Amino acid sequence: MKTQRLFFALWPSAPVRQAIVDMLAGLPPSIRGRNMQAHNLHITLHFLGQTTPEQRDCMHRAARSLKAAPFTFTLDRLGYFPRAKILWMGATTLPDELAQLHASLGAALTGCDYQVDSRHYQPHVTLKRKLAKMAPVADLRFSIPWPVDEFVLVESVPAEKGVDYRVIEKYPL
Ligand code: ATP
Ligand code: MG
Repeated sequence: MKTQRLFFALWPSAPVRQAIVDMLAGLPPSIRGRNMQAHNLHITLHFLGQTTPEQRDCMHRAARSLKAAPFTFTLDRLGYFPRAKILWMGATTLPDELAQLHASLGAALTGCDYQVDSRHYQPHVTLKRKLAKMAPVADLRFSIPWPVDEFVLVESVPAEKGVDYRVIEKYPL
């Protein structure tokens, strides 16, 4: 059966993407690891994994009928997942609207033969992978307001340089 590797995500506009890239480029060289490709930067809402066409159609209908409010997500901190060896960018304050979007989308997806990840949701933009340890960064202050007025369905496609993410559907908030 033909399946697709899918996830729901927040997709940055060109200026927000550029602001993240500039931030990434300005990190001190003491922070090593492998940079994410600029065109792939995103925040995952729900990772779906391998999805059949029937499941995808069900998830698309669920997402389309969702009612959720727009919000602004302010990227203002770095974080490090030591197990995954990932450097990420996130927000000190999580908007209620994002928590609600995540919860209501997750609830809607359970009707599509999908097991929602029960771990605490930590919205983040992965910046670097394979970072063995995080170097301390002094005085790194930034604030990137990301106005969010839609979420998207993305297909993860193997590519020559790792992976490419393709937005296949958009859902306005
Ligand atoms: P690769 O797995 O080939 O290294 P990748 O991790 O960039 O590539 P995917 O595995 O397709 O690409 O992941 C797509 C998005 O979903 C990424 O944001 C990834 O962090 C997230 N993701 C992947 N697997 C899971 C999972 N099991 N639980 C939650 N999020 C996941
Ligand atoms: Mg992966």
